[in-house]
Order: sequence, then C-alpha cells, then structure tokens
Amino acid sequence: MGEAVRRQQLADGLAAVHGRIAAACAAAGRSTDEITLVIVTKFFPASDVRLLAELGVGDVGENRHQEAEAKAAVLRAEDGPVAGLRWHFIGGLQSNKAAAVARYADVVHSVDRAKLVAPLARGAEQRERRLDVLIQVSLDPPEAAGRSGAAVADVPRLAEEVAGNERLRLRGVMGVAPLGGDADRAFAQLAQIAGRVREIVPDAGWISAGMSGDLEQAVRNGATHLRVGSAVLGERPRIK
Ligand SMILES: *Cc1c(COP(=O)(O)O)cnc(C)c1O
Repeated sequence: MGEAVRRQQLADGLAAVHGRIAAACAAAGRSTDEITLVIVTKFFPASDVRLLAELGVGDVGENRHQEAEAKAAVLRAEDGPVAGLRWHFIGGLQSNKAAAVARYADVVHSVDRAKLVAPLARGAEQRERRLDVLIQVSLDPPEAAGRSGAAVADVPRLAEEVAGNERLRLRGVMGVAPLGGDADRAFAQLAQIAGRVREIVPDAGWISAGMSGDLEQAVRNGATHLRVGSAVLGERPRIK
C-alpha cells in the first residue's frame, strides 16, 4: 500500500474516532478536553506510528515489550513529531521486563501487583525521571480464569505501595471490560475504585478505560484516557 493511501486511511479513522468521542462527550455533558486518546499501534509498523504523529497524534500505546522497545528506539531517534510522542505501555508486565519497560515508556497502565514496583522504579531511576503509572484493576468476575489486573480488594494496598515509591507517580486506574460482558457496569465499577484510589492519592484522577468497541460507555463512566487501536488502524495483522 502506498504511503499516501495509508495516511488517508489513518486520517479517516482518526476523524471517525474523534467524532465518536465528541458525540459521547456531548451526551455525557463532558468536554473533549478531559479525554486523552491513546492510539494502540501494537502489531502495526513504525511507519504507521510516524504517520499518526504527523497527523497530530501525541499518545501511542503498545502491549508487547520487545515490539514496543524496538519501535520507540527507532522513532525517538528521528526528528519531527514522532520524537515527541508519549509511549503508553498497556500490556501484561513480567517482573523481569519491568525495568526495561520503564526505560522507554512514559506511562505504564498495567501495574497489577506489588512485585512490579521495585523494577519499574529502577528503570525510572536509570532514565532519571519519575514514571507515571496506573493500577490495572480486574473487572472480570472473580471466578474468571487468567484475568489480568489486580483484584478489586487488593487495589488500596497496591495503591499505597506505589504511592510510597518516590520514582513512581500514581496517576489512577486502568481497566478492560470483560469479553461479552456489560461494559457500562464494568466501567461504573472502575470509576468507583478510582474514587477509592483518590482517597489515598488525591490527584490520581486518570481513568484509562474504553477501546474501539466500548469507548462510548467509557466516556459515559468518567474515562479520561481511551485506548483505541482497530477503529483507527484497521484490523490487526494475525500473529504468525
Ligand atoms: C489492543 C488493546 C486495546 C485496543 O483495542 P482495539 O479494540 O483495537 O481498540 C486497548 N487496550 C488494551 C489493553 C489492548 O491490549
């Protein structure tokens, strides 16, 4: 595919998503200024990330460490809008990779256990900056297998743990609506948990919720960050 064609596809996808966000904000009586749109570029090439930056995107999300590290290294070395992108890590974190993630990510959405605090802080220290982090909360029913995210009951203790580390800055919570579940209900629960986190860290006001299929429900329930991939980039290539 030619670059001009791809650029137009991405521009069209972005326009459609911005239109949906504007409509959802209007319906909820919120301002679009309250929303940060993170474009999830996992599985797509660095060339797409570059085009998105040229189209005005400021925040991109990745969920696989090796892929994210490689793309961030290539693009940060360039001039122009890509150099200023904020990189959000939104995927499951292994403790032995967490320090490496903290060396290129600006925001980590997926902190779900206390074991990640020390390695994330170490990576942030090597980069000589404070790392923005969110606690990922499981919105799945308790009996669900393989859920990612901290159990609701564990969130306050984890929030205190993160808040107690001077290299990390707790910004709020992140959640993924259960597959086939009621997104409105899940995001309402996330908003409630966000309130409990703010009792511990009053300015931790970020709520990362909502993807291509449920961003309206997320906006309605107070999301500040939306993580949108396929609605902008198209269907992800299949994993080989
Ligand atoms: C892939 C992914 C997204 C984006 O999903 P789309 O349905 O393509 O918008 C959002 N959040 C997380 C955690 C993801 O892994």
